[in-house]
Amino acid sequence: MSQIGTDPADPQTIFVHPLTVADVVAALRTAAPPHLAESWDSNRLICGDPAESVDSVLLAVDPVTAVVDEAIRRDVDLVITHHPLYLRGTDHVSATDPKGRCVHRLIRAGIALANAHTTLDAAHGGVAAALAAAVGLLGAAPLQPSPNDPTQGIGRVGRLEHPTRLRDFAAAVAVALPDSAPGLLVGGDLDATIETVAVSGGAGDGLLGTARDAGADVFLTADLRHHPASEHLEAGRPYLLCGTHWATEWVGLPPLAARLERAAAAKGRRLATYVSEVVTDPWTLRLSTGS
Ligand SMILES: [Zn+2]
Repeated sequence: MSQIGTDPADPQTIFVHPLTVADVVAALRTAAPPHLAESWDSNRLICGDPAESVDSVLLAVDPVTAVVDEAIRRDVDLVITHHPLYLRGTDHVSATDPKGRCVHRLIRAGIALANAHTTLDAAHGGVAAALAAAVGLLGAAPLQPSPNDPTQGIGRVGRLEHPTRLRDFAAAVAVALPDSAPGLLVGGDLDATIETVAVSGGAGDGLLGTARDAGADVFLTADLRHHPASEHLEAGRPYLLCGTHWATEWVGLPPLAARLERAAAAKGRRLATYVSEVVTDPWTLRLSTGS
């Protein structure tokens, strides 16, 4: 699958070295710099040989079976996921559990796997920045600046172009996010006027106080639990928009794909990227209850 421009035996033509796994992982580290990683996190090449050639990449949120199925079907050389496969380490990769089976299937198919997690959350143009852009925030700044670079960090806080009713903003957010069975939950006074918005893709329980301290009127995140959300709203703003973990992080993938393609083009290579549309939230159906 190496990409060779023309016949190297012909002196009139140019031999083009293929991109390698190492090249693409280097571009990934430029887009999602390692110094932005949280201390508990894992952002790295998970399996694969850095010297192998890469023509095509699949980007996805989760390194799960359905994504491995898609990678094999598309015959890509590398999968880049947001979440790590083994966040807390492992003492085996045997094919006796789903993660080990994913490793085996990827290696057998000659597909490498890498991830960028909190590095991509925090980066310029990363998950938080993409989520802020998707919902129309102006002047977005990190909600929780990185101690290593305060211009980047977890979440974003910014302003809407015009003050808006919560219900209208929520409707716009619902359109901006990709669909997943649970959809979007709204907590707060639907007719209240909001202008300052905080966003953070993925689980946002831990940032409720940070969003309040930032003066946000509404906080868009995911995975909010009953007690933290209820107790937070008892004390007022920010109102809450709770999307799904997958949907609020998926928005960071298309800009990353474009960035990797540009990095390849800058080296005179072509990299084909695919952004997975497989919904990897755990939920497959939402039913209204009680009626
Ligand atoms: Zn996540």
